[in-house]
Amino acid sequence: MIAPVLPTYNRAPLSFQTGQGCWLTATDGRRFLDLGSGIAVNALGHAPRELVQVLTEQAQKLWHVSNIYTIPEQERLAALLVERSFADTVFFTNSGTETAELAIKMARRFHYEKGQPERIEILAFEGAFHGRSTGAIAAAGSEKMVKGFGPLMPGFRQLAWGDIEAATAAITEQTCAVMIEPVQGEGGIRPAGDAMLKALRERCDATGTLLIFDEVQCGVGRTGKLFAQEWSGVAPDIMMVAKGIGGGFPLGAVLAKEAAAVGMGAGTHGSTYGGNPLGCAVGAKVIEIISAPAFLAEVNRKAGLFRQGLEALVASHPDVLEAVRGEGLMLGLKCKIPSGDLVAAGYDAGVLTVAAADNVLRLLPALNIPDVDIAEALTRLDLACSTAGKAANVSS
Ligand SMILES: *Cc1c(COP(=O)(O)O)cnc(C)c1O
Repeated sequence: MIAPVLPTYNRAPLSFQTGQGCWLTATDGRRFLDLGSGIAVNALGHAPRELVQVLTEQAQKLWHVSNIYTIPEQERLAALLVERSFADTVFFTNSGTETAELAIKMARRFHYEKGQPERIEILAFEGAFHGRSTGAIAAAGSEKMVKGFGPLMPGFRQLAWGDIEAATAAITEQTCAVMIEPVQGEGGIRPAGDAMLKALRERCDATGTLLIFDEVQCGVGRTGKLFAQEWSGVAPDIMMVAKGIGGGFPLGAVLAKEAAAVGMGAGTHGSTYGGNPLGCAVGAKVIEIISAPAFLAEVNRKAGLFRQGLEALVASHPDVLEAVRGEGLMLGLKCKIPSGDLVAAGYDAGVLTVAAADNVLRLLPALNIPDVDIAEALTRLDLACSTAGKAANVSS
């Protein structure tokens, strides 16, 4: 008999009742150090004091009003994002998937508005993840996600990850847009690299193609800058943001340059919940905190500390781990044993991590993780490597 909850997830036998900072307490009382953060969502940890305060204050004033009215909290968050990014304008959503939908619509509408309605093809990349809507699965194109859901939305093609020559050759005067994660998350913590982003920007400029960055996972301080694209100096035309921006409250945003948003006038797009006062009040606090230079400096310092410890972990478990990858606090451990085995060993060691493609173990701790928790994480990961290594019959 089917479970009351549609069985679309492969769930671990763990449930939690409370969270504080980087720690989760399970329903059976066990405590876990959380290095997954709801997959890069709880950017300031669980139940952060400042966000609880903003959320409860706003909850007592106003939760929801329709977008047929002006929403001051929304305008405030949009102004903050515009001030602190490449963007001129912002649309709010409730999730990352919805940002993919708008990015696709905005790009196609742009060319329609410019008198080239036939320019519909959007180029994406192998290993990409942009969400689960029919549009987002067509964009990423992975066999696993699209199987049985056809006919797929036409107008997408996937390029080889890391092949700059092939990518630039594929962009023509008929291309609508290129969509890329500056650091692939689900794909295995794979940075695109500055050279790729720069080459895409140049070729997009030369052909009038729009460049879309998906920073749903790598954005909002995760890599040590407010947005990952800042490391490369390359600005997109459209950017997708979600996950960390709500600190745990469902919130997403599409950031765009004025020129790219030319087709999106009144009536072209909308959302019932998108940009509600509760989400935007929380989001504004998140952006205020994370965009502060002193906060980002701390993220980079902590990232250096964690990475150094992880390099040592790889050195002491050469049969279990192959390498550390990633940027800032978006880190991956390339594994030699199945990464899922290491995640499971982590449960026994009281540390939560997330598997990704390419046999990588993801580490996405809260951006304000205390140094003592970094040390504890390394101790618990060391234990997990030892037990998983023994179980897999490799030494270490
Ligand atoms: C998680 C994710 C999405 C989808 O976000 P949802 O909130 O799950 O809809 C899109 N792109 C990237 C890069 C993601 O990591």
